[in-house]
Amino acid sequence: MANQDYPINEIISLEACSSCSLCADVCPAVLATGDGKLSGFYRLHLLKKLQRSRSGLWAKLFKTARMTEEELAQFGETVFKCTLCGNCQEVCPVGIRLNDIWVSLRQDLVHASAYPKKVDMIGQNIAESHNVFDEDNEERADWVDDMPDAPEDGLIRDQAEVVYFTGCVSAYFPMAQQIPIALARIFQAAEVDFTLLGEEEWCCGFPLLGAGLREMTAEVIEHNMAAVRKKGASTIVFACPSCYQMWKEHYPREFEIFHFTEYAYHLVQNGRVPLKKLPMTVTYHDPCDLGRNAKVYDKPRQLIRSLPGVKLVEMARNREKCACCGGGGNLEMIDKELSATIARDKIEEALATGAQTVVTACQQCVRTMNTYVKRNKIQLDVLDITQLIERALIDPDDGKGTE
Ligand code: SF4
Ligand code: SF4
Repeated sequence: MANQDYPINEIISLEACSSCSLCADVCPAVLATGDGKLSGFYRLHLLKKLQRSRSGLWAKLFKTARMTEEELAQFGETVFKCTLCGNCQEVCPVGIRLNDIWVSLRQDLVHASAYPKKVDMIGQNIAESHNVFDEDNEERADWVDDMPDAPEDGLIRDQAEVVYFTGCVSAYFPMAQQIPIALARIFQAAEVDFTLLGEEEWCCGFPLLGAGLREMTAEVIEHNMAAVRKKGASTIVFACPSCYQMWKEHYPREFEIFHFTEYAYHLVQNGRVPLKKLPMTVTYHDPCDLGRNAKVYDKPRQLIRSLPGVKLVEMARNREKCACCGGGGNLEMIDKELSATIARDKIEEALATGAQTVVTACQQCVRTMNTYVKRNKIQLDVLDITQLIERALIDPDDGKGTE
């Protein structure tokens, strides 16, 4: 364990904390449990104590006792009960980049062996199988077989202008596989020249950051870059905000990258997606990695509003203030119950809008919210934005125009 896990700007910014505790007031983990030890405020306080106790001079001058192993282990438990939603960072009045610190802290605690051992699985699975679920990576594009009129090439072409980077959850999790199917159908309707990477797509590395395994990301980054290069593509499109965020922040800038909502907005604006009327009232949930973390708020809303017949109503907390669904930061794996309690709060807010459907732009949000809704038999549809557009697609065989 070492303070070297933190870049110098992170160490310096710790001192800027004014102890206002605003970050605790918006933390979904604190709101769901009432436990202040899960707050950013408390976490920073302990982190400063931990760092000072490691400095020989500081310890001598101020008699800072080292944390016991038990204290460190308890700290590790609380640090991983966080969805990395960025709500705390958004409200911090002194602008501390808390999300970066949380990721460095996880790495520090992994080095110190003070972390929930469940996260070991993430590193093992990605190292051995190249996906987070330890599935056969050769089956990464098997969802294509479930498409109506599945193309013979399995959507894997030698060369294409656009690569659709699917991500592990959409590739393997049955509840999420409707998302890549919907995206592929929209791209087919718009005649986009695109390909999948198939088994050459490896996990983007984002779950490794959340697992405190930043060192392992270099290999997956190098592999995925080479796989895209081989296709001769200039552009990569993601329906997964976490893959998108990972490529945006941690991969070399060699390709144009877009989240689906950005790319599809232009397709719709240019009249390339044939749409029929869809009389629906929906509300939109901003995925943390797309909204707060990548600042994409307008395009999803403009896209929804451009669908004929669809009415958008906002939740009480939206855009920068949007409440997390409970699915980020590997929390579902670490503490299922906490993840579900955060999802409950989210669903209650969505229901209060009176909308019949909550639309989002992330397979993990769909998964978390849908699991809660189905388990509790709640009358609310949960759809990814790809699925909403797919519903509005004019079937080439029915010949209907926009009403
Ligand atoms: S990132 Fe979200 S869950 Fe984690 S401490 Fe901040 S507000 Fe709480
Ligand atoms: S909001 Fe920022 S300044 Fe206030 S307690 Fe949290 S980290 Fe410190």
